[in-house]
Amino acid sequence: MIRLEGVTKRYRSAAGERVALDAVDLAVARGQVFGVVGRSGAGKSTLIRTINRLETPNAGKVFVGDQEITALKPAELRAARRRIGMIFQHFNLLNAKTIAENVAFPLRLEGRPAAEVARRTAELLDQLGLAEHARKHPAQLSGGQKQRVGIARALACSPEVLLCDEATSALDPETTDEILGLLDGLNRDLGLTIVLITHQMEVVRRVCDRVAVLKDGRLVEEGATADVFLHP
Ligand code: ADP
Ligand code: ADP
Repeated sequence: MIRLEGVTKRYRSAAGERVALDAVDLAVARGQVFGVVGRSGAGKSTLIRTINRLETPNAGKVFVGDQEITALKPAELRAARRRIGMIFQHFNLLNAKTIAENVAFPLRLEGRPAAEVARRTAELLDQLGLAEHARKHPAQLSGGQKQRVGIARALACSPEVLLCDEATSALDPETTDEILGLLDGLNRDLGLTIVLITHQMEVVRRVCDRVAVLKDGRLVEEGATADVFLHP
C-alpha cells in the first residue's frame, strides 16, 4: 500500500546541513497498522510527512497504492491527498469554527454539494460520538474529544491511509487508550491502513502489527512488533 525507496531528506539551515532521512526503504501492506519509533530528532515526523508530501524528499521515491506520490504535479497531488488522511499531536483544529464546520472543511474544499457535505458530516459526527458537540468550538472540548474531531475530519474524504503524527502524545493514559481503541476499530472495520509515529513503546505494543525503528535518519530495524520488542 505504501512504499518508500531510498528516501533521503536533507534540511539546510544557518547551522549547516542536517540529514533527516538517509536512504530509507520501507513497505507497509494494505490493512496494516504500522508503527515508526525512535528518539526525538530521529526523523519520524519527516518520514510520515513524505507519505503525503508535506515534505518532498531530495532523493528516492514514495508510492501510495499504484501512485508515485513523489512524481505528482500539484493538481494530481491534491487529488491523491484525499486518499491519505492525517491527524496530529496538537489536533490542528480550526479554533474559530464549530466542530461540525471542522469536520465539514475538507468536503467543502473539495466543492462537494451542500446536501452531501451535511449528510457526510452528520454521519462522521455520529460515528465518532460527537453529534452532541456539533455546534461547540474546539476550546470547549477535552483533548480526547478534540482528537476525535481530528479523526472525523481526516476520514471525511474516505481515505485508504491514515497518518498519525504523535496522535496520542498530548493525551493522558486513559484517553490514549480510548483513541488507540478507536484507531484499532477503524483498521478492523474499514480496513484502513494506518501509519503512526510515536515515542511511546506502549502505543506500539497496543496497536501495531509491524514496527520500524529510526535512528539518526536511518532505518535500523523493521519487523513484526513482537519480534522487534523481543530483540531491543
Ligand atoms: P522526529 O519526528 O523523530 O523527532 P524530525 O523528523 O522532526 O524527527 O526531525 C529530524 C531532524 O531534522 C532533526 O534533527 C530536526 O532538527 C531536523 N529538522 C526537522 N524539520 C526541520 C526543518 N524544517 N528545518 C531544519 N531542520 C529540520
Ligand atoms: P453554517 O451555518 O455557517 O453553514 P453550521 O455550523 O450550521 O455552519 O454547519 C457547518 C457544516 O456542518 C454544514 O455542512 C452543516 O450541514 C453541518 N452541521 C451543522 N450542524 C450539524 C449537526 N448538528 N450535525 C451534523 N452536521 C451538522
